[in-house]
Amino acid sequence: MTKKVCIIGGGIAGVGAWWTLAQNGQPGQEWDVTIIHNGARYGGHALTVPVQHNGATIDVDTGVQFVVPLLYPNIDALVKVPGIAEQVPYQAYDDLKVACGFPRKGGQPQNWGNFDAYRTGPNFAMYTDTMYNNAKRFQDFIDLALLEGWGSKSLAEYFDTLKVPYEDQDDFLAYFIDPYLSIINGYGATLSRQVTFDDLVPLFAHVPGIWPGLGSFTHPGAGYRRFVKGASSLVEALADQARSLKPAKELLNTTVMGVVPADPLPGPVTVTWGSGQNPVMSDTFDKVIITTDMEATASLLNNGNNTTIWDSLYSKYLSAKDWPLLPGKCYIHTDIDMLSPDLRDQEETLQFTAYYAPQSADPGYDMFKTYTTYIEKNLHDEANADGLYLTMYGYIPDPAKGDIVPKPETVLFEEVWTHGMWLPTFMLPAKQNLHHAQGKGVTLSYPGQLDTGIYFAGNNTTADSMEHAFISGAVIANYAFGSPYPLDSLLGFGMYELFYKEFMFPAASVSAKKARLAESHRQ
Ligand SMILES: Cc1cc2nc3c(=O)[nH]c(=O)nc-3n(C[C@H](O)[C@H](O)[C@H](O)COP(=O)(O)OP(=O)(O)OC[C@H]3O[C@@H](n4cnc5c(N)ncnc54)[C@H](O)[C@@H]3O)c2cc1C
Repeated sequence: MTKKVCIIGGGIAGVGAWWTLAQNGQPGQEWDVTIIHNGARYGGHALTVPVQHNGATIDVDTGVQFVVPLLYPNIDALVKVPGIAEQVPYQAYDDLKVACGFPRKGGQPQNWGNFDAYRTGPNFAMYTDTMYNNAKRFQDFIDLALLEGWGSKSLAEYFDTLKVPYEDQDDFLAYFIDPYLSIINGYGATLSRQVTFDDLVPLFAHVPGIWPGLGSFTHPGAGYRRFVKGASSLVEALADQARSLKPAKELLNTTVMGVVPADPLPGPVTVTWGSGQNPVMSDTFDKVIITTDMEATASLLNNGNNTTIWDSLYSKYLSAKDWPLLPGKCYIHTDIDMLSPDLRDQEETLQFTAYYAPQSADPGYDMFKTYTTYIEKNLHDEANADGLYLTMYGYIPDPAKGDIVPKPETVLFEEVWTHGMWLPTFMLPAKQNLHHAQGKGVTLSYPGQLDTGIYFAGNNTTADSMEHAFISGAVIANYAFGSPYPLDSLLGFGMYELFYKEFMFPAASVSAKKARLAESHRQ
């Protein structure tokens, strides 16, 4: 009898797992797939929302904005796959201009931007030669940080132990480093000083002719790409191709409510779901892949029907303290008043706005109450997008408590989310321990591991990007079904192996290394 797998979540991890299983003539294709997603279209955090503005339809990305081919070789390979390439136009974006607007000090504007137009004039008086030189000194240090043994050390360790501190170092940290890292980490989240040089090097280091220096304080970032029809176009193209290779039962606008392993193990897994039209339904599956964030995953498993296995297994690996996810919210809107009044030229790609944040003694604004606004006309390079904005928060703003949000009549779309941080080291111990709670693998298993038939993928298990979410789904397709790496990309395979063996199934690399050592010993 054909075996059945249920994939929960229709982001790139879930759809990518389906697409990997669907590939012709390989282990995995024989499985019948059911995919259940609570949205109306596939995408998840790669969601694109078409909005009507200035008489045109503009595809606004609410999650994924950019991908970096150098860091994301699997995404770069996916968009070249015949059948997908035609559906997913993908263009270079080599002019990533960042501007930061802060509360005025003594009535004077305090702003900066990483491009020339935002270095001169009274609005940018704070961006003195001292600040500029500090930024250059820091960027130059990052180029050498790994060679000098700083990789695993945090920025705080670096700045606190300098023999020669930066000039006006506190201001440099408060007005340059912290805002920039808040944008990278999760839009307003105040986690900037947990970052290590290992995290920053891929973004800020540059090697002439080889690596462009993707992020920069002193000039626009380069080396990015955008999906012309929005990030959802890639997820939907993967679903279209998977459907044509091996159709699945697709349940959209449907929410999974519980996942219950067999008792006793091993045995089929019961999945329960419901949607607006349909009453609660359930079915049993031989295997289940859960790609939701770890908060949602924990609530699916801790559903009152799993008490024994929750207490003995999952509670150890899915506890909220190990997965400190961040809440967030975004608005697509037309409210120009959300931008700092000092930065209305709108030449930037995105603006970090602390201008309206409440004042605090140090550094002069409350980082937690900041937000980031994308200027859609500069992202799309389209005049019709003029006056259209996407504002992102690393918290859930509450206007009743004085939080600044777009005026209701200007809001075209709003969405809340839960997410991790882009940085791979965020939640690393939890990611590296999760394999103890994964169901058994086809060729790999671990002492004490239970044969639950339940597997975890999704960006929380690797790193918070489209690339790493895709990798997580492909890794589970291999681990639980034996499907081979699905792309023809050496660089992509390297990234997949790295996250397979060092993050998701770390002991695998240890045992593989031991086996290789034993082998070489025998020869
Ligand atoms: C604001 C923001 C900006 C980002 N910017 C970038 C960027 O520029 N570049 C980049 O590469 N990455 C970016 N990322 C990260 C990237 O979007 C994610 O890492 C990736 O899209 C996650 O894919 P996923 O499949 O793991 O999870 P998701 O996309 O979150 O998919 C999981 C899906 O499961 C659904 N779900 C949850 N519970 C249930 C349930 N009970 N039943 C059914 N379905 C359920 C969720 O609604 C969700 O749609 C950004 C993320 C955010 C939040």
